[in-house]
Amino acid sequence: MTAATLPGLEPAPTPAATPRPGSRAARMALPRSVDVLKEIATEYGVCVRPLPMRRTDLDTGLTEVIDLPCGATREDKCAPCAKKNRRLRQAQIREGWHRDDEPLPPPEPATEEQKALILLRGHLEFSRDEASRAAQWDQVADLDEAIHEVEDAIAAEGLRGRVAPPHSTGDEDQDDDTGRRRKRSTKRRQDAPELPRRKVERRTVGKTYTASDGSTYRPSMWLTLTLDSYGPVRPDGTPVNPDRYDYRRAAWDAVHFPRLLDRFWQNLRRCEGWNVQYAGCVEPQRRLAPHAHFAIRGTIPRDTLRTVAAATYHQVWWPAVDVQRYTADRPPVWDEDASAWVDPDTRRPLTTWGEALDALDEDPDAEPVHVARFGAQVDARGVMPGTADAERTIRYVTKYITKHTGDCHKATTDRQRKHLDRLWHALRVTPCTDRCANWLLYGVQPKKANAKLKPGRCRGKVHQRDTLGIGGRRILISRDWSGKTLSDHKHDVRAWVRALLGVTVGLDGVDDQGATVEPVRHAWELARPDDADVPSLTHRLLRSIGERARWRSELLAAKDRAAQPHPGETTNRPASTTGEGL
Ligand SMILES: [Zn+2]
Ligand SMILES: [Zn+2]
Repeated sequence: MTAATLPGLEPAPTPAATPRPGSRAARMALPRSVDVLKEIATEYGVCVRPLPMRRTDLDTGLTEVIDLPCGATREDKCAPCAKKNRRLRQAQIREGWHRDDEPLPPPEPATEEQKALILLRGHLEFSRDEASRAAQWDQVADLDEAIHEVEDAIAAEGLRGRVAPPHSTGDEDQDDDTGRRRKRSTKRRQDAPELPRRKVERRTVGKTYTASDGSTYRPSMWLTLTLDSYGPVRPDGTPVNPDRYDYRRAAWDAVHFPRLLDRFWQNLRRCEGWNVQYAGCVEPQRRLAPHAHFAIRGTIPRDTLRTVAAATYHQVWWPAVDVQRYTADRPPVWDEDASAWVDPDTRRPLTTWGEALDALDEDPDAEPVHVARFGAQVDARGVMPGTADAERTIRYVTKYITKHTGDCHKATTDRQRKHLDRLWHALRVTPCTDRCANWLLYGVQPKKANAKLKPGRCRGKVHQRDTLGIGGRRILISRDWSGKTLSDHKHDVRAWVRALLGVTVGLDGVDDQGATVEPVRHAWELARPDDADVPSLTHRLLRSIGERARWRSELLAAKDRAAQPHPGETTNRPASTTGEGL
């Protein structure tokens, strides 16, 4: 192995007041070697929670334990994997933003590799089922992440659609309970905004402009959409007057923000007449309300963006929530005989979801329980491809994606903590969906009501303190953005590095059963951490770090040799590529 200087091993600076040698304080002052190991792993882009997979060569029968990166997207779980994921997102945004041709994914025939991946997915499913029945929930969570990674690989292998629906946490996502198809009343339909309409062309690429000197350019855009004001706030994000700040509206807006964004893109495409593409993310502002940043391919007049944002709204046609009739301490109760939630005193069944919606339909004066709208602040500007501004903007879009929503702006003062608490209290009683157990507090049985509901204690994500009501996906990328999945981008980076090194065998597991490699038939299975052939986590980390360090110096040497690049290679090279985290 090349003797690379490992960071973190330089002598520590001498502390000002040196404790007595041999004392407990002196011992505690020494860094724990396991912490340093994880620190270095992070520095070298080595996953710190790898999942061991046993790979058997079906021709020779040799087995080998290979670490599958955990694939976490949040830094607090695994910083190297989260950072790797962020770099891929950046590559994805960069590639789709300024492209000047239509991204059309080519059809691919089924291959042995694809079958092998499905088989691996099957093994994981089996293990998950086993762990689930043994109530080993941390195992289940790990396996879910592995399943996620394999499904990404399956998508990258060109198989369309999901192998199987994702595992839900409880009730299934099927249709109506009574079997009777509810006809949506015309009244509860979304009103169409007052906007000009055009037929949407199949085009996803923006206009090209010609300068006076004959050169052409194709600028793109950068857009920020914000929610309305709920009351004046201070620079630290807290309300000037907490009693007058509209926490209820803030909570409902946050829960329905994704739908509002969907409507915005629908309206914009209709108004502009072409299939506008975007990539962006949702994150909290300092005042803890969500906002969204988007890279848009092509240009759209700023006035149009403002007009569409102002005209866009999302109506929520749900039962009224003016009166909270029950509390979590005095909840309605489940009546087994009636198979319904009933009042604890009168034993009368609560209004069912169907009845509540029928009542809305029959009321000529009914109004939506909530209407979500954007605020007046719509920031839009043009960005030229390949400029420092474009790179800066991409970094800005992805700045928070490795963090939990609640960690983007940490509450550090009492005032900030109280603001967060008040918002959370509003979110806890805001129904998240038509199945939310919180409906019971308002005297309504949610859709598909059952005995398992916990009135006022719905486990939906938006009710949790650190989601700030931002419960769903935070990365929003339109279908025809780059024409690639995240795993495709991963492959691009790896293929480039492999070409540079002249490596022909896979460096790690699953993704590397690529089409260009000579076909070796492998069987994969999940290894248990306590299996005899699985080294301890620390040994595996040490091995990966050593491999990575050697590999990185080889890559650097190869880069030097390739100072005179082959024709074509420079253009194929993903701009974000560095030796890290591959
Ligand atoms: Zn990891
Ligand atoms: Zn809920």
